[in-house]
Amino acid sequence: MSRVSAATRMQATGVTVLVGGERAILHDASIEVRAGEVHALVGPNGAGKSTLFGVLSGDVIPRSGEVVLDGVPIGGIRPAALARARAVLLQENAVSFPFTVEQVVRMGRAPWARTGSAADDDEIVAAAMEATEVQALASRAVTSLSGGERARGALARVIAQSTGILLLDEPTAALDLKHHEDVMRLIRGRADAGMAVAIVLHDLNAALAHADRVTLLSEGRVAATGSPSEVLTAGRIEAVYGQAVDVFPHPSTGVPLIVARRGSALAPLD
Ligand code: ADP
Ligand code: MG
Repeated sequence: MSRVSAATRMQATGVTVLVGGERAILHDASIEVRAGEVHALVGPNGAGKSTLFGVLSGDVIPRSGEVVLDGVPIGGIRPAALARARAVLLQENAVSFPFTVEQVVRMGRAPWARTGSAADDDEIVAAAMEATEVQALASRAVTSLSGGERARGALARVIAQSTGILLLDEPTAALDLKHHEDVMRLIRGRADAGMAVAIVLHDLNAALAHADRVTLLSEGRVAATGSPSEVLTAGRIEAVYGQAVDVFPHPSTGVPLIVARRGSALAPLD
């Protein structure tokens, strides 16, 4: 389903991030996020996914390499303009002050204050809450919500930001089966409407089912990037995750399904 002609909205090239002045937690990593595509970023815990997201969002300054948004180096874009171009859902989206859900979603509109779009704030906030099914929670304090409810409220905030680019770090990790699929469908729909979406996922089957492109990170390096079924092979998953898996086609769609081989961390694959 990859659309090779799609416009590149964000591109990180040869990015290296050091901690403590020497250890590279990201090494020469590159990623491209295109309009009309869902780009899934996958890899084991600690592989560098959130760090690469931080670099793309402009929050983490790499030691070397470059990040551009529509061809412009991200460091040269003013914060307000950046916030109208791309929305970021951080992995840790804890809000410790008891704002209501609606107040949090409305914060997504802040970059549009004093622009022509501000007149549509109420409508956009309501639509974002509807799309993420948090209307019933609108007046609840976010501090009182379950992890999954809070995650959906946080997603509503970035949807309300009305950007052409979405960077979502594990938005589905806390969600139940239905809300997980709802969020994947929502994101798929946004990409089909022309948005550029990058999403950190642990669910490799969701990446296979919903993403156009997958980048697999391993120990700070890009192990592979390409179409989901090219990247997510049994051999590569076993090598990167240290877990034996079986991969077989879904009986009706033919989309590959990945299942951890039970009782076997690193059984030989045959
Ligand atoms: P992921 O999101 O793939 O789980 P992260 O990008 O959060 O991984 O982190 C990658 C690695 O870098 C991890 O080993 C993490 O502990 C380490 N790391 C991240 N940020 C820092 C930091 N500020 N100082 C030291 N180590 C860090
Ligand atoms: Mg992370």
